[in-house]
Amino acid sequence: MKQTFHSFIDRFAQTANDIWLKGWAEANAGNISLRLDDSLLPPKNSRRSSKWQPTGPPAQSGRRAGREFPQIAGDCFLISAAGSFLKNFKLSPDENLGVIQIDSEGSNYRVLWGFARNGAPTSELLTHLYIHSVRKKISNGKDKAVIHAHCPALSALTFILPLDDARLTKLLWQMHAECILAFPEGVGFIPWQMPGSSALAEKTAEKLKNFHAVLWQFHGIIAAGPDLDKTLGLIETIEKTCEIYIKAISAGRIKNKLSKKQLLKIADHFRLKPNQKILSQIK
Ligand SMILES: [Zn+2]
Repeated sequence: MKQTFHSFIDRFAQTANDIWLKGWAEANAGNISLRLDDSLLPPKNSRRSSKWQPTGPPAQSGRRAGREFPQIAGDCFLISAAGSFLKNFKLSPDENLGVIQIDSEGSNYRVLWGFARNGAPTSELLTHLYIHSVRKKISNGKDKAVIHAHCPALSALTFILPLDDARLTKLLWQMHAECILAFPEGVGFIPWQMPGSSALAEKTAEKLKNFHAVLWQFHGIIAAGPDLDKTLGLIETIEKTCEIYIKAISAGRIKNKLSKKQLLKIADHFRLKPNQKILSQIK
């Protein structure tokens, strides 16, 4: 069936509802964005165009425009509204969502649809734009979706273990036979940063040059992928593996886990090239 803008909004809202039902989006937590193909833009008679606004605080003082994102210049994004509850996307999409367009220089945006009642894009807009910019380039345009959620097992992990990219990836790969298939490159880790800050946005985008998902200490996860299903599926796999780890340590000491030899066998069977730097640290 051919997708229209409105059928696509329903699909987007369903994904938001699925995240809420999992308990990963309390109150106004979580945000989602998607780079839209031209065929999925709002019908012309439902569009408006607000005045251009900077995409974020200027990188250098004295400049009027926001951050520059030439990779996504002219692109349009469906994105959640600041303060919106994911569970409400289905009830009133035009209040809780909006479509923005980036200008030809990649430094300003305007609203084409949604954000009714004076709404605005999520406070994590800068993070989303940085990620879209990086992932569009690295994936040759394939990656279009970004999802941020507050997954409890993953957050809990950041309170009980010292973590970095390698420690986190090794733990996940060795606790579930399909993790190395789902993320052969690994998962990134960022020590605590202020939510919504430029520092968090920049560090996240830097990590996502090498990974599809990054865990934010004491906060949650953010992931990018080609579509909503694949991106949420990646988060589900990471969170579930973390739950397995926490259940296992709650039941006693971990006595068995996937060995390097077994991980190499899986990688070989599925013709994958896992992150060698991380793999080399597994005994
Ligand atoms: Zn958050």
